[in-house]
Amino acid sequence: DVPKHIDYDEKPLNDYLSNAAENAPGQKAIHFLGKELTYREVYESALKLANHLISRGLEKGDRVSIMLPNCPQAVIGYYGVLLAGGIVVQTNPLYMERELEHQLNDSGARFILCLDLVFPKVVKVKSNSPIEHIIVTGLKEYLPFPKNVLYPLVQKKQKTGILVNVPYNDTSIHSFKEWMRTGILDKPEVSINPKEDLALLQYTGGTTGLAKGVMLTHYNLVVNTMQCRYWIADARFGEEVILGILPFFHVYGMTCVMNLAIMYQSKMVILPRFDAKDTLKTISKQRPTLFPGAPTIYISLLNHPDLDDYDLSSIKACISGSAPLPVEVQQKFQEKISGRLVEGYGLTEASPVTHANLLSGKNVTGSIGLPWPDTDAAILGAEGKPAETKEIGELLVRGPQVMKGYWNLPQETEAVLNDGWLSTGDMGYMDEEGYFYIVDRKKDMIIAGGYNIYPREVEEVLYEHDAIQEAVVLGVPDPYRGETVKAFIVLKEGCTVQEEDLNKHCRKHLAAYKVPRLYEFREELPKTTVGKILRRVLIDEEKQRFE
Ligand code: ATP
Repeated sequence: DVPKHIDYDEKPLNDYLSNAAENAPGQKAIHFLGKELTYREVYESALKLANHLISRGLEKGDRVSIMLPNCPQAVIGYYGVLLAGGIVVQTNPLYMERELEHQLNDSGARFILCLDLVFPKVVKVKSNSPIEHIIVTGLKEYLPFPKNVLYPLVQKKQKTGILVNVPYNDTSIHSFKEWMRTGILDKPEVSINPKEDLALLQYTGGTTGLAKGVMLTHYNLVVNTMQCRYWIADARFGEEVILGILPFFHVYGMTCVMNLAIMYQSKMVILPRFDAKDTLKTISKQRPTLFPGAPTIYISLLNHPDLDDYDLSSIKACISGSAPLPVEVQQKFQEKISGRLVEGYGLTEASPVTHANLLSGKNVTGSIGLPWPDTDAAILGAEGKPAETKEIGELLVRGPQVMKGYWNLPQETEAVLNDGWLSTGDMGYMDEEGYFYIVDRKKDMIIAGGYNIYPREVEEVLYEHDAIQEAVVLGVPDPYRGETVKAFIVLKEGCTVQEEDLNKHCRKHLAAYKVPRLYEFREELPKTTVGKILRRVLIDEEKQRFE
């Protein structure tokens, strides 16, 4: 069983990498498209980066943006910045110039470590940002680069023949490779107060609006990783292989893959982007034991036509977070692995995990499970009073993994943090045994003709239909009912379906007012980098139609 309380280490997060390099220097840390790096190699590279940053003027608390997909440099960059006493600002490499400029200015980053392929974007925004130094790296630096690697930018580059010319003779532009060649291995002397000092500015997913910088301390991150470690108590130190498909620039992959692997001195098998076939191949060959993912990832693996050609039996634990896991998907994917696929829950503001189902003992499908050690959870019911059992209200959480606040946004911080309690913005309830359930985001609730409708309930029913691969339900403006229920559907390959069939199916399982009035069939749905369906994009499209 998971303990109610854990004694947390009060040390900087980067100490775990130093420990791993000292205790298990030859242990493999990273497997990346055929190339492996040991803990000693990762640590030494991180030290070299740290020393170069310091020699270029980095001071404790300076922000450094890391704009990389999953690759060894993303791990080295993150830990190098921490070793130097800096604060990591995770930047999505797919950001467009406007988003990048906002994040660099908001965070005040003076340094950025980026992929050569995004260098042109970075250069364009540099003069409108506080950036003083750009460190450039390429995926190839760690690769005997196979021709068929499915990295879209690389493919585009190959197709268009446009090569990125990086002017390294400019004194503000540096080559990561060169820094690795010339770097020194001294451990920088930085004094970190883990409970006070920030390790990370993690911008929220932006699913519901403008991304906010979440301030997470070293302690927040150490705590959440240790909680994660206790949760998979059966795991063997140094022996697990963790599959890293979730991007490390998102808090979920960062904690549950990267930081967990390092704390466990285990190997992470990482891929620069999600592709179902590549993932199946990698699982078969690299035999990962732990696979943190998101519903859409498991769905696309399940629907891959060649699924049965691959052996997924090495996997003994999957945790699904970031969006509701349809029961169907949970059951079907679990049949393919040797252990359990359980649902968990979290948010950027909590480093991120606060709840999960257990890997042994009771697993309540459809529930996000129990609060993690030292984590309090409560449901705020009608009129701000604690909710009764099974009464729906807003989920609040409190624990040592909860953020310090939003960067430069005191009012927004005050709106969500009250006496240590974080308002999650998610609606849910608790059952008699203390298991929690998310019914939906507060903001996603549809009010149609005075009725409250939670999209998730309708989506669950749609997912039960044989022809449906993905479904998302929204409230769209309606002159009579205020809002009306609309479903966006992606069908499984080779399937067709009539709206009337879907109506019949929904009417069987749902009260009439919840049944979608409108359907739209799509080839695919817009998604975030962790595979969360971007409702905001669909909502904006709908709004535009009505303007
Ligand atoms: P933003 O806050 O910028 O709008 P975001 O909410 O997507 O973006 P994240 O912190 O990445 O930012 O996601 C956290 C949210 O993901 C939670 O508040 C919740 O709505 C959703 N979520 C996470 N796990 C689950 C789950 N198991 N079931 C349902 N929803 C989940």
